[in-house]
Amino acid sequence: MANSNLSENTADIKNQEKYTSRVRTILEKMPFAPKYYIATFGCQQNEADSERLSGTAQSLGYVKAENLEDADLIIFNTCAVREHAELRALSKTGQLKHLKEKNKNLLIGLWGCMVSQEKRVEDIKHKYPYVDFVAGTNMLHRLPEILCDCLENDRRRYYVDELDYSIVEGVPVEREDKIKAYVSIMYGCDNFCTYCVVPYVRGRERSRKKEDILNEVRSLVSDGYKEITLLGQNVNSYGKKGEENCDFATLVEEICKIDGDFTLRFMTSHPKDVSDRLIEVIKNNPKVERHFHLPVQSGSTRILKEMNRKYSREGYLETVKKLKSAIPDIVLTTDIIVGFPGETNEDFEETLSLVKEVGYDSVFSFIYSPRPGTPASKMEDDTGDGEKTERMSKLLSLHRENITAINKSYVGKTVRVLCEKGADEKGFFTGRTSGFKLVKFQSQKGDIIGKYVDVKIDSFGESLLRGKTE
Ligand code: SF4
Repeated sequence: MANSNLSENTADIKNQEKYTSRVRTILEKMPFAPKYYIATFGCQQNEADSERLSGTAQSLGYVKAENLEDADLIIFNTCAVREHAELRALSKTGQLKHLKEKNKNLLIGLWGCMVSQEKRVEDIKHKYPYVDFVAGTNMLHRLPEILCDCLENDRRRYYVDELDYSIVEGVPVEREDKIKAYVSIMYGCDNFCTYCVVPYVRGRERSRKKEDILNEVRSLVSDGYKEITLLGQNVNSYGKKGEENCDFATLVEEICKIDGDFTLRFMTSHPKDVSDRLIEVIKNNPKVERHFHLPVQSGSTRILKEMNRKYSREGYLETVKKLKSAIPDIVLTTDIIVGFPGETNEDFEETLSLVKEVGYDSVFSFIYSPRPGTPASKMEDDTGDGEKTERMSKLLSLHRENITAINKSYVGKTVRVLCEKGADEKGFFTGRTSGFKLVKFQSQKGDIIGKYVDVKIDSFGESLLRGKTE
């Protein structure tokens, strides 16, 4: 369902209050303060979801555990984008068995995309009997109810069939960072790229109300947050269903009007939805950082068609051209899938030539991994693993050449950096430029964490710049 009405949402979150007080009553009887531990696998959206699970756990009376061994509630917030991420989460789940044997009060839950798939839930039921509950991404606000059921009735629960696509506001949040904050603006995806499970595990696109987003950003800015990242599977299609009479470009423009010393990032964008107006809004608003993550996935129009990406190589390059000519200091990064079913050497050469032409700062590349239930998993794939690995190493070495030339061009220049972390044992602070480039730098200035500083670049590595404050 699209954005559900406010009264339904309010009822939903209100409904949890009775469970919250029942859980608190049970936890208060414990001879010690119970602890929780949440581990996050996957993307920024999962990190943002984990911050809400964490906030909810605290509202129930749990305190944060420093490590797994001390916890009375463990939640793994899982990812399904690649098989590797699922196997890692399952292997970590396997390691929890001995903790359950040591602590009879321990509750273990698996959350998120991986357990929004029937097959994985069946695996958990049969192979991991010590897992107490599983819940899909849309159950976030119902953690009190789930825990109440586990604690009062001592039974295992699987909340996977109850997909609810409403948006619930008011879930407590415990943010990990005091400088940078994530703000989800939309959930789900309508694009059905043939390799991707997101539409099946996170549901159809729905956008949060503009006022709810603006209020959240205002409150973060007044709490001193310096960098806000707007999140969504496809932020560019925010408001596409007309719920808010506001598209993504307008939303960005409205957020930039909020007073305060903060900057704005967003992710992820779909190339087909980057409008001329969005480019104009970025150009005219210095609060929007000069970084655009624009996943291309392949440089071959034929493969893009097989992926159902709905743009061509030429269309993508045209968007890049518009971005670069409107915002000359824009930094571009991308995602690429190597070895998609049917990708020939010629297709792959087109990917290489596109990477060379665009000159990305970062390329997040992955060898294609079939996801059960997606159309691509049924496509014929006769390229061997050896060939795919070889293509991957060609792509990485081309990117290495590109990035060496790009990073070299920064030497001698001064860049504005948001300092995120204090000095390490070698005396280097950590920060990011507007273009999201990692910078390690030395500084004699006093308290600079959470502040913008000018850093003169004197050397570089493959993935970072080094320098000193001026
Ligand atoms: S745009 Fe495509 S790749 Fe991105 S989440 Fe949607 S279906 Fe998946």
